Amino acid sequence: MDINFNADVIVVGAGPCGISASMSVALNGKKVVLIDKSQYAGSKNMYGGAVYDCALREVFKDEVDNLPYERIINSNSWTFLNDTGSFELKYKDNSLKNAYAIKRFNLEKWMIGIAKKNGVYYIPNTKVNDLIKKDGAVVGVETNLEKYYAPVVIIADGVNSMLAKKLNLRQKYTPKDMLLSAKETLKLDKKTLENRFNLSPDGKNGVCKMFFGGIEEYKDLFMMSFLYTFKDTIMLGVGASLQDLTKYKLNINELLDKIKLHPDISPLIEGSRTIEYSAHLIPETGYNKLPKLYTSGALLAGDASGFINSIHSEGTNFALISGKLAGESALFALENNDFSQSTLSIYKKKLDKSFILKDLYSYRNVIDKLHSRSKSLSFYYPKKIKEFFNIILSADCKSKSKHFRKFFFNFIKDRNIFEIIKDVFAFSKCALDVFFGR
Ligand SMILES: Cc1cc2nc3c(=O)[nH]c(=O)nc-3n(C[C@H](O)[C@H](O)[C@H](O)COP(=O)(O)OP(=O)(O)OC[C@H]3O[C@@H](n4cnc5c(N)ncnc54)[C@H](O)[C@@H]3O)c2cc1C
Repeated sequence: MDINFNADVIVVGAGPCGISASMSVALNGKKVVLIDKSQYAGSKNMYGGAVYDCALREVFKDEVDNLPYERIINSNSWTFLNDTGSFELKYKDNSLKNAYAIKRFNLEKWMIGIAKKNGVYYIPNTKVNDLIKKDGAVVGVETNLEKYYAPVVIIADGVNSMLAKKLNLRQKYTPKDMLLSAKETLKLDKKTLENRFNLSPDGKNGVCKMFFGGIEEYKDLFMMSFLYTFKDTIMLGVGASLQDLTKYKLNINELLDKIKLHPDISPLIEGSRTIEYSAHLIPETGYNKLPKLYTSGALLAGDASGFINSIHSEGTNFALISGKLAGESALFALENNDFSQSTLSIYKKKLDKSFILKDLYSYRNVIDKLHSRSKSLSFYYPKKIKEFFNIILSADCKSKSKHFRKFFFNFIKDRNIFEIIKDVFAFSKCALDVFFGR
């Protein structure tokens, strides 16, 4: 059959990745259709709270000056929780303008507005059920309403990418490859929030806090929690390995309920009211389980490809830039009127040159290593840090040397020396991988 193409490019998924991909196609005067299953952009999408200036500017240029953000995040802290307290590293720089706290429905609404202004044809409320193929190449999509045809389809349908599975682009994922996260949006009186977190009313500063451990009953559970301040709301969430949740037969909301009661977290959210609850998967497949990123007539980008660095809470930037690169690769294929696998392989070359595959490569073992040492991270070292500081701070009329010696001997005694060596190896391996990168 001869195909009557409706567009030059079809993009599936109107998250940051799909919107960015469609923008780069439309900006070059090509006809692009952007399809999303949700009723309005961003209504079902979920994250912690930070979107990054650099990636936004790469796609939306000076329009970013009008981003309807709620706060600029310029105070970051990393806290190791023990049962009764914590050890915290904090960095604040009021001149930082690197990350914005913005709700997802506002982010996607803003991005879609600009995309439409630039000629993107956006179709909401429409689920893509399948891909249409001709002679082995993807030539369109089949939705719950009708069929659309284009010589290139960019697949940006998120972590569960049903379309990547249909095309056999990715390997079978296991529970170890996924983190599950639950988040509450907590409403708090604006003045109280500003006083509590030392924030100005104009939104020019905001806080991001990361927490490790804090729930001692699950000693080797790999989990992290996060807190972001918005104008008059707080986002508090927790993420844990799906494998560990299965092992402990735990619901992610149970972890969130428990972490809310921690003595270091409960005062931060005191007096707040839950106005929204959401949960989402985070892909941890990384470089070691990189999917096939292109095939004849199709490209895969964003979370659908596992492009995320959860150690740094970076995902939207990977999505925006991989979307842009996918869009540019589609344009290259259109210019050459060749939509074969070999022409579309330019996408992989672009990704190789970008921070995306460089970072995924250098962090390829980090989550796995941290996961394998989660008992140390979430339980053993926070406990030891607590003991150490109790010594330093205890003016108990006893010799400090005696305390330090006792601490040292307990440190060795409480933990098999081989476990300590394994920790040192694991953490050094991560640090060296990241330092030398690619
Ligand atoms: C708890 C949590 C916290 C996070 N925190 C941060 C953070 O602070 N900063 C950061 O940068 N990143 C963060 N991330 C990661 C970030 O949210 C993702 O990396 C990013 O949203 C990926 O964008 P995407 O466009 O690839 O996918 P998504 O944003 O998931 O968009 C996919 C889109 O595809 C649509 N779709 C799916 N299937 C179909 C279909 N069959 N037909 C039509 N449409 C379809 C969906 O409706 C959706 O709109 C976090 C993630 C989680 C889960």
